[in-house]
Amino acid sequence: MDLAFDRRHIWHPYTSTLTPLTCYPVSSAKGVMLELEDGKQLVDGMSSWWSAIHGYNHPYLNQAAHSQIDKMSHVMFGGITHEPAINLCKKLLSLAPNNLQHVFLADSGSVAVEVSLKMALQYWHAKGESRPKFLTLRDGYHGDTFAAMSVTDPDNSMHSLYKGFLPEHIFAQSPKTGYWQEWNESDLDDFKQKLNQHHQEIAAVILEPIVQGAGGMRIYHPNFLKGVRDLCDQFGVLLILDEIATGFGRTGKMFACEHADIQPDILCVGKALTSGYMTLSATLASSEVAHTVCGGDAGCFMHGPTFMGNPLACAVATASMELLEQNHWQAQTKQIESLFAELLPKLMHYDLVDDVRWLGAIGVVETKSPVNMENIQAHFVDQGVWIRPFGKLIYMMPPFISEAEHVGKLVGAIETALQDPNCFQ
Ligand SMILES: *Cc1c(COP(=O)(O)O)cnc(C)c1O
Repeated sequence: MDLAFDRRHIWHPYTSTLTPLTCYPVSSAKGVMLELEDGKQLVDGMSSWWSAIHGYNHPYLNQAAHSQIDKMSHVMFGGITHEPAINLCKKLLSLAPNNLQHVFLADSGSVAVEVSLKMALQYWHAKGESRPKFLTLRDGYHGDTFAAMSVTDPDNSMHSLYKGFLPEHIFAQSPKTGYWQEWNESDLDDFKQKLNQHHQEIAAVILEPIVQGAGGMRIYHPNFLKGVRDLCDQFGVLLILDEIATGFGRTGKMFACEHADIQPDILCVGKALTSGYMTLSATLASSEVAHTVCGGDAGCFMHGPTFMGNPLACAVATASMELLEQNHWQAQTKQIESLFAELLPKLMHYDLVDDVRWLGAIGVVETKSPVNMENIQAHFVDQGVWIRPFGKLIYMMPPFISEAEHVGKLVGAIETALQDPNCFQ
């Protein structure tokens, strides 16, 4: 591979053209393994950012892609419909909370978030109310497009860069009580106070249920989410749940909102929707939301991407849902969770470790010093694993098909990194 060309001309996520970091050339992937160009095999601990839940190069998903591409890869969705979209939306509605009855197919997670925010704004517009604000949590992450950025944590993201351009929304303290800790009601105080003060201008609350992902890998108590649902009902504000990271079994439940036994008014899914085969996302809405939006002056929901409902992506996503229906994801994520519960607390013996936490197939080691990205990445590759930390967070969300030996190897590689000062700043 022409890595010199890559370094000189290609942007990777959040990278500099001036000081590009090393990129490892992957030539193929199968099951839980990534294969580098030189033949080295890495146990994947990332599922390509939450997405490849069934592992790579899966025969059933490959078959779905092959048989769809021989019929058509894409047709427009305006005025046309097709079997792959219908099949997928049927599956989605059968898996999602049962109050959700309408599906908007979109291209990426960020777009699904944009769509959800637009739905909420159109909902209140149709009711003749002006509600230009959203309420969300600190430490959240909802994507890189403008509206999604505007509800992402203002301090650990790029808000200050875009000040004056980003709309300013309302941020409540994120929950402090961890998933496995004893619930503390005062966690909800700030949220309650913000809602009380601003509810007349708030269109919706948007948050990541149970696990705040890219904004800090925080795993919080279900009672917080229950409280949020109650307060939204009490103040008459819509609740949007962003399950782009947590959806499809990752937290040990099909959707993370099931931990709190609540239903959102609008739900965003993405990432694992196609099990990492291609980009696709969806925004699901209740009938009350959908019909109110469409009953307004506009007479429709104002959005329609060119590649909406891409048949190839829909066919693979349907196959991925079928695997979820038959493929023992509950036992798999339970096994991964009990391995994390057994192995991660042992790492607390290292001075460098500040906290360890886990839920379902998510395991997190928070360190006291930030990692040295270049060195720790080289260390992990040397140890035969693929883990991509950020800041003080070394985290794993392996494919559900990972066996005990794979999880052991991932945690083992983190342990040896903790023994190597070069891996940290
Ligand atoms: C990744 C992510 C997004 C953005 O999805 P993209 O596909 O990267 O646009 C939004 N919300 C959450 C919770 C995410 O984890």
